Amino acid sequence: MSTIFSQIVEGEIPARIVYEDETTIAFLDANPLAPGHTLVIPKEEYERLNDLPEDVAADLYATIHRLVPAVEDAVDADATTVAFNNGEEAGQEVPHVHCHIVPRFDDDGAGPIHGLFGAPEDLPDDELDEIASEIESRA
Ligand code: 5GP
Repeated sequence: MSTIFSQIVEGEIPARIVYEDETTIAFLDANPLAPGHTLVIPKEEYERLNDLPEDVAADLYATIHRLVPAVEDAVDADATTVAFNNGEEAGQEVPHVHCHIVPRFDDDGAGPIHGLFGAPEDLPDDELDEIASEIESRA
């Protein structure tokens, strides 16, 4: 079964589409966290960022790069929070990669994405070294 976002791509359900090219599409979020909250997706269905082929990832970023200033200008935002909920445990509800572009305003009180977590973890140096090397060896 195709995702709700694939149904938007196919024109089967309505959406306020703000940009479209061969491989990507952007539309307003149906439950906006702020005026202008926009979603950018690859037209092809991939569940997570980890699943994207490089060319699709490049196309997706190009559209994000284009849309961030467009969204900010359109709603006269001071800034934007640009984020992916990448996986169910991270809060992803629609299993079709999507980037949230959420306009931010001086007085919106929402804070940085650091606010999702409590105090930073106090990890010892040897653990940090090991984690860095584990990531480096896979990058
Ligand atoms: P997630 O939690 O998966 O990162 O975010 C999914 C987003 O998709 C939510 O912000 C939700 O409001 C939005 N959304 C869900 N269904 C629809 C829909 O049918 N149309 C549009 N435009 N947005 C949707």
